[in-house]
Amino acid sequence: MAIGLPEEFGGVGGEFSEVILAIDLLYQAGLVMPAITTQFMARAAILKHGSEEQKRRFLQPSASGELLISAGITEPDSGSNLFKLRSSVKRLPSGDFLLNGTKTYQTGFVEAQYCQVVARSEGGDDYAARTKGLTMLMVDTKSPGISATKMDIQMFMPDRHYTVSFDDVVVPKENLLGNEGEAIKVLFDWLNPERLIGAANAVGQADYVLEKTAEYAKIRAPFRSPIGAYQAIQHPLAIAKSHNEAARLMMYDCARRFDLGEDVELQSGMVKWLTSESFTQATNIAMDTFGGASLDLSTDLLPFYLLAKLQEVAPVANNIVLNQIAEKAFGLPKSY
Ligand SMILES: Cc1cc2nc3c(=O)[nH]c(=O)nc-3n(C[C@H](O)[C@H](O)[C@H](O)COP(=O)(O)OP(=O)(O)OC[C@H]3O[C@@H](n4cnc5c(N)ncnc54)[C@H](O)[C@@H]3O)c2cc1C
Repeated sequence: MAIGLPEEFGGVGGEFSEVILAIDLLYQAGLVMPAITTQFMARAAILKHGSEEQKRRFLQPSASGELLISAGITEPDSGSNLFKLRSSVKRLPSGDFLLNGTKTYQTGFVEAQYCQVVARSEGGDDYAARTKGLTMLMVDTKSPGISATKMDIQMFMPDRHYTVSFDDVVVPKENLLGNEGEAIKVLFDWLNPERLIGAANAVGQADYVLEKTAEYAKIRAPFRSPIGAYQAIQHPLAIAKSHNEAARLMMYDCARRFDLGEDVELQSGMVKWLTSESFTQATNIAMDTFGGASLDLSTDLLPFYLLAKLQEVAPVANNIVLNQIAEKAFGLPKSY
């Protein structure tokens, strides 16, 4: 948790590339922790947009893991189209904020101490002004007026996901991140870290699954030879491994360019899509190789099959990423 944070905020230093490396290596070892995705995204936003006081208050305890931060974006009617979000935030005479609304699919909300919530201080109905009036607040998850209900999501993971209602929740003015009504700037700065973290999750897990599959293929022998001797098993494994290595190389290149301050919006979208595809490819061959055993939870494979599906949908659906690549790379018109 201390990686990628300056020493003055309790970190051990390092750039975003080191965060990506750490996640890749942990996930290669099968240590999957979805909640750290929101933690690293949130910290990237605080590092860039937080005041000095906010950096000390939120980053320092996050380096030791004492403070966890969840991400409050998705709402029941606003997933792929985040601009449709309806949660509202108003200024009180004291200068503090009053937050109302509902968020859903909130990973680790109850376990986290703070949630970075995006709400509207104005607008919403005017399409042309959809990016205006968004405000981001660091909300204490134990504030009065908050109620969280655990969703029935079964990923065979320790992480929990919640639907959260904010009913007249008072948020101190000191917890405004960036400028009021200008959260779009923070959201744009989330984009690349979010995609790169998702990519590191995917390539790391793909390798874990491929290694596990190769080990099984060496010992499982329903006929005379182990199934790993058959090209019907070898070739998909070899193809998945090659795709994953190619995707990983592009991911590290993108992370390095991000650290250099280059515009990587197009490349990070490609990296998100490529890595989630190679993860899916890896889990498909893994499920085929394990046969019936793939559905036995004791082989610890099924969670990764579901995680590969999750990677295709969240934090942003692959279809949306492909739309954005087509628009940005070729200037094709937007249809939605
Ligand atoms: C396990 C899990 C954890 C999550 N954790 C968090 C979290 O911590 N915080 C948070 O804020 N959110 C979280 N999310 C929400 C996640 O970010 C959304 O699920 C994601 O943004 C997609 O939104 P949606 O599910 O509403 O899909 P929808 O917007 O309903 O879209 C459904 C599908 O339609 C297709 N589609 C939609 N629009 C287009 C288009 N214009 N062109 C082509 N295809 C399109 C896509 O294939 C998409 O998958 C989580 C989700 C899951 C499943």
